[in-house]
Amino acid sequence: MNSEQMKEIAAKVPTTRDELAECLVPEHLQKEYGDRLLKCINAYIEYGNLHEVIAKRPRSVSVEGSSGAGSNKSGSEKVSERKMVKYDWSDPFSFDCHFGMEDNSASKPYTNRGRTAAVWKTLQAYGFKKFTKNEQIGCDELIPSACFESFVRKSVKTPSKILEDGQIVGYEVNELAKTIRLQGLDHVNEDDRTAFEEEEDMELVTRALSDNGLQRRDVYYTDLYYSFCGAREGLEQSTCSWHCRSCGECEDWRVWHCKGCNTCKYGASTSPCDKCNPEEYASMVRHFQL
Ligand SMILES: [Zn+2]
Ligand SMILES: [Zn+2]
Ligand SMILES: [Zn+2]
Repeated sequence: MNSEQMKEIAAKVPTTRDELAECLVPEHLQKEYGDRLLKCINAYIEYGNLHEVIAKRPRSVSVEGSSGAGSNKSGSEKVSERKMVKYDWSDPFSFDCHFGMEDNSASKPYTNRGRTAAVWKTLQAYGFKKFTKNEQIGCDELIPSACFESFVRKSVKTPSKILEDGQIVGYEVNELAKTIRLQGLDHVNEDDRTAFEEEEDMELVTRALSDNGLQRRDVYYTDLYYSFCGAREGLEQSTCSWHCRSCGECEDWRVWHCKGCNTCKYGASTSPCDKCNPEEYASMVRHFQL
């Protein structure tokens, strides 16, 4: 690809929610795929060290009247005006995302709260650096994925599951690295394969267990993360599944966490919760004759 083509692509690619809104993606789709899509795009920018290309780009998508931050604002305002009648099931663009019941915090990584000495020791045994609330964590520092940390928090409650150095029995770094090498290689670009194969065990493991996923800037890129949940155990694509912190499980991408009844529900963005929005749910079932 030449630099003109690169500039063309960089000018169009959305890196924030506001820019995504300018891409005329309906609001419910933005909420459904947006965060994951932006995470992947930004991880790729990190990986390829493309910050400069992105910062210098002329934004090709413009919103009438103004430019810069102002235009972003009016872009998202425009989208929110599109909310219409909630019962018009024949128009999927008219719905609120899960009727406003989605709990977006369920997919976020853990914070320092609840990180006991035992939790920290195990996190450190897998290559994560300990930091306190007041220490600014550098942008190169990796933080544990919600899936890994939920597994750690559960495991440390049973001392017999924890080795002297903090590693979890049956999930030692060298064991995990074997699985990651085996399952990850096919997802790595041809050109990056040697670097991936030569990567140290600990590096591979920390990255696969981190919120950034199995990738290293300028070296190799995948959209994989290591899941500790049930049948999904092993490498999973972050575009296909995500870990719900409230339910403590990795879920399909179509599953969403309802803040009303605090449970995961299956259904595209248009679907209301059967418990919290029973009328809307019944109306949807009637419409689609489910
Ligand atoms: Zn999980
Ligand atoms: Zn609910
Ligand atoms: Zn959930």
